[in-house]
Amino acid sequence: MLTAHGLCWLCEMPLRLAHWGICSCCTRAVSSRPSLCPQCGLPAAHEQLPCGRCLRHEPPWQWLVAVNDYDIPLSGLVKRWKFHRRPELTNALARLLLLRLRQTPGRAKPDLLIAVPLWQKRHWRRGYNQADELCRPLARWSGICYAREAIRRVRPTATQHQLSAKRRKQNLKNAFRLEIPVAGLHIVLVDDVVTTGATVAELSRLLLQNGAASVQVWCLCRTL
Ligand SMILES: [Zn+2]
Ligand SMILES: [Zn+2]
Repeated sequence: MLTAHGLCWLCEMPLRLAHWGICSCCTRAVSSRPSLCPQCGLPAAHEQLPCGRCLRHEPPWQWLVAVNDYDIPLSGLVKRWKFHRRPELTNALARLLLLRLRQTPGRAKPDLLIAVPLWQKRHWRRGYNQADELCRPLARWSGICYAREAIRRVRPTATQHQLSAKRRKQNLKNAFRLEIPVAGLHIVLVDDVVTTGATVAELSRLLLQNGAASVQVWCLCRTL
C-alpha cells in the first residue's frame, strides 16, 4: 500500500519504492540496536546464546525476534499505526519485521503463524487486531500458513500492565482456548508489542501442552 504522498513516513523524503513506506536510511535507523538475547529479546551480551535471565528462568517459548525496543523512532510509527488508525503503515512495519527475521538465523522453520488474540471488546473498540494485521503480509511474503483465530480469548482479562507479576499470571490462567491441532508443528506467535511477555508466555504454554514442536515469538517491539 502507498503512503499518502509517496514520502517516507519518518523523514518525508521521496521514496524510490513508494510501497516500502520507509526509506532505506530510516530503515537502518529504526532497526539499529544493541545485541539482544535470542530467547527473551532483551539486551544481552550475545545474539547467539540465551542471556543469564533466561538461563535462570527460561521463558516457555524458544525464540523471540523483535525489530527493536519500544523507543523512538519505532515507537512513534507504532503509535501512529495503532492509535491514529493508519492501516497503510501495516506493510511498512511488517517489512521491518521481515528484514529483522532475515538477520536472525538459527530458528526452527515455522509451519504456522498465529496472531495473539485481543479480548473481543477491545478488538471491537479499536476496530482491528494489530497482530492479525501483521500476520497477513507476513504470511503472503514468507509463504507460511496463517491460522486465523487459532486461539480464542474465552474470558475477558484485566489490563495487564496494572497488575503484579503474580496477578498477571492468575489473570491469564485459562483465558485462552486453542481451536486447531498443533501437534508436531513449529508455531510463530505474532504480536505488535511484547512488554512483560505474560500473554505470549501463557499462549506458548498452551501450544506446547498441546504438542507444538516449538514456539517462537515475532513482534515489532520488545520492551520491559
Ligand atoms: Zn526516511
Ligand atoms: Zn534472555
